This record gives sequence, structure tokens and C-alpha cells, in this order.
Amino acid sequence: MSDQHVECGCDERPQPLLSTDKALTTLINAAKAISTTELLTLDKALGRVLSANICANINVPGFDNSAMDGYAIHLKEDQINTPGVRSFEITDRIPAGATGAELQPGCAARIFTGAPIPKGTNTVIMQEECEVSADGHSIETWRPLSLNENIRPMGNDIQSGNVILTKGSLLKAQDIALAASVGINALEVFSKIRVGIFFTGDELVEPGHELKPGQIYDSNRYALVAMLTNLGCDIINLGRIKDTLEDTISALDSLQTQCDLIITTGGVSVGEEDHVKPAVEKLGELNLWRIKMKPGKPLAFGQIGQSAFIGLPGNPVSAMVTFLLFARPFIKKTQGCSNYLNAHFKVAVNFDWHKAKPRREFVRVKLDQSTLPATVSQYPKQGSDVLSSMVWADGFVEIPEDSILKSGEMVNFYPFNEMIV
Ligand code: AMP
Ligand code: MG
Repeated sequence: MSDQHVECGCDERPQPLLSTDKALTTLINAAKAISTTELLTLDKALGRVLSANICANINVPGFDNSAMDGYAIHLKEDQINTPGVRSFEITDRIPAGATGAELQPGCAARIFTGAPIPKGTNTVIMQEECEVSADGHSIETWRPLSLNENIRPMGNDIQSGNVILTKGSLLKAQDIALAASVGINALEVFSKIRVGIFFTGDELVEPGHELKPGQIYDSNRYALVAMLTNLGCDIINLGRIKDTLEDTISALDSLQTQCDLIITTGGVSVGEEDHVKPAVEKLGELNLWRIKMKPGKPLAFGQIGQSAFIGLPGNPVSAMVTFLLFARPFIKKTQGCSNYLNAHFKVAVNFDWHKAKPRREFVRVKLDQSTLPATVSQYPKQGSDVLSSMVWADGFVEIPEDSILKSGEMVNFYPFNEMIV
């Protein structure tokens, strides 16, 4: 995909348009996993990222055990796979947590799920498949019995020495449970990353206050705090910053010493009210990208001291979409996650895309999974200021650059329930 030059409508030279893929690759290549780690008890580890492989040093199960409530039996040679009714004397009772004595040939032990198979046992029969004698001293079965029925062998789930969880895993309930099952009570995870945020725009007002003419409520602040909280980041939120170069520089300067990443929204165009670019350039380095995408387009990426910098566009839909497409994978890689790219799957559009457009479009859609393949319909208003499209939608689809689509054609769908919750 070749980048192309367009007019930028300002005094500076036109910036090259960058493809979405190139922008993402550049960001991902620049992201480095945080170097500090901490040891957390299992109850505190949910949603954190493992910083080292975890090995088991026991077998699970640690002993051969019964998969059923029933009877452990020591079949004699002539009792294996032979027809006819058979009777076995009950010589023991083994609940889970206890151990039994060695079973003699032709004998049975009452046994419960998870209890260790006593020595001598060569099969287990379910209680539903046998009958206990009136005096309770023996059982009778009426079907041929094979060796090793209903026995869970030692190490069936995990063998000592196995790597059970890998470095870079985002810890979910099942991962924590698996660590517990091998007796591990704490996990080494990457430290939380610290993200500093602020918002530019003299038109912005905090919700809860009255609007004066020309003012709007600051919604990006709340979108960003929510998305960063979802990602498990520590947040330093400076709130709204006055649209002056001095205030922007001082906000950036105070955050750069404390943060792994600074994110802002607004002010990344090159109009005279947009101070983010010159402020970052004064303190560090900045690339201002015009990305061949819609919504979005302006995105700034740079470095100030130890902190990376991502400047998102101001329009609320653009801010959220560019956060999800670019900042989210960058953050996940910085957190040490090995699986940092956004999950997506193929769906069919239920609309025609008549006109080929030069920019890749991320169209807010609702998903219908009652069809095969699943189909998506688009929100009628796709403007970058129409925040209700994000609430209505289940995700967005990616309409490739320069393409026309007929209803039924397949595109990539990025579900919000993966990326936002
Ligand atoms: P800018 O990128 O600063 O030129 O802003 C583009 C548009 O997004 C303008 O209409 C702004 O009013 C709007 N905008 C900027 N920041 C915010 C915010 N924090 N919340 C809601 N809208 C915003
Ligand atoms: Mg602005």
C-alpha cells in the first residue's frame, strides 16, 4: 500500500498519508514491555500479565483415583471381560481424602469420586451398574468388566515439570485456578503501567456544570479513563488543560517523569489552536501522522524522556476508535502481554458500499449472530462526532481502502465486548 500526499489545509507542508497498518506496526515496534515485576497472591492476580513461565512441580492428580462414586475392584484373571453375573466381597470403604488398604483378588472397596485407588485395584465400576447384597457385604454386577474403567491416572491433567502457564499471559480465572491446582499461591506479574492523561480544548466543560454558548461537555476524559481502567492501567488524570502552549508544555513535563505513557485527545491537528505538537516537540520527539482512515486521521506518536506519547484526535468517535486501534495494542504490549493485537473475526455486511473511498473506514455496526455467516448492519450516522453510534454498535467493521462491497461480502469485525469490556 503506497502512502500518498494530500493537501492539509494549513501553512505547513502537506504530511504524507500513512496507512493504518504502517502506523500500527510502527507503534507496536516501539512498544517495550515494562521491566519491573511484582509477586501477587492469587486473589490479586486477575487481569495481570505473567512475567515468567510457570512450571508445575507436582503431578495432578497426584495419585490414581476414582472418576466415579462406585466400587474399586481387584478382578481376577478369569473375571476380566467375561460374561455373566459376578459377585465381589466388599472389604473397605474409601471416601475422598482417605486412603484404603490393598485389595485382594476378587474383592471390592466402596469408593467415592476423587478417592485414591487402593493397591491391587484394576477397575472401578459405577454404583449404578451394580447391586449391593441385602446384608451389605458384597456387590453383584451383570456386565463384563474391562481393566482400568473409571480410573483417572496420576498426572492425567498435569505432569511435574510441565509449563502450565506462559510468560505474557493475561491472567484469567482458569489460569489462576490452574496455578492453585499445582499448589502455587503467588504469581510474578509485570507491574502496572502508569498512563498520564489530559484533554485540550477551551470549549470543554465538566459534566455537572452549566454550558455557556459555544461550550460542550468533555466526554473524552470519561471514555479514556474507562478504557484505561479496563486495561488495568494506573492513571494520572490532569483533566482539562488550557489551550495554550505553556499549559500544554507544563502538563507534559509534569507527567513525563511519572508515566510510561502519556495520552491526550484534541489539539493534534496543525491549526493555531493546536498546541500539542509544538509542546511535545519542545520536550521530546514527535511524529504527527495523517492516517488513511476514517474516523481518525490525525494521530501523534512520540517520546518525552522515559514516557511514550500518543496524541489522539479530539472528536469523540475518532478518539475512541484510534484509542482502540492503536493505543490499546501499544498499551497491551507495554504491559508485557504476548497477545496484544485486537481480536477480530469475519462477518458479512448486510449493506452495499457503493463508492470506493481512499481511506480505510471503521464503520460502527450491530451484529446479528442468528444468520450464518453472522451479518452486520451499520448505524445511519457515521460522523466522527456521533458518539451515540458507539453506544448503539456492537463493534466496528473495517472497510478496506479503495473498495466497493456488495451485501453479503465478508469484512473484519472488531467486537467491542473484546476491546472495551
Ligand atoms: P480538536 O482535535 O481539538 O480540533 O477537536 C476536534 C473536535 O473534537 C472539536 O469539535 C472539539 O470540540 C471536540 N473535542 C475535543 N476534545 C473533546 C473532548 N474532550 N470531549 C468531547 N469533544 C471533544
Ligand atoms: Mg481543540
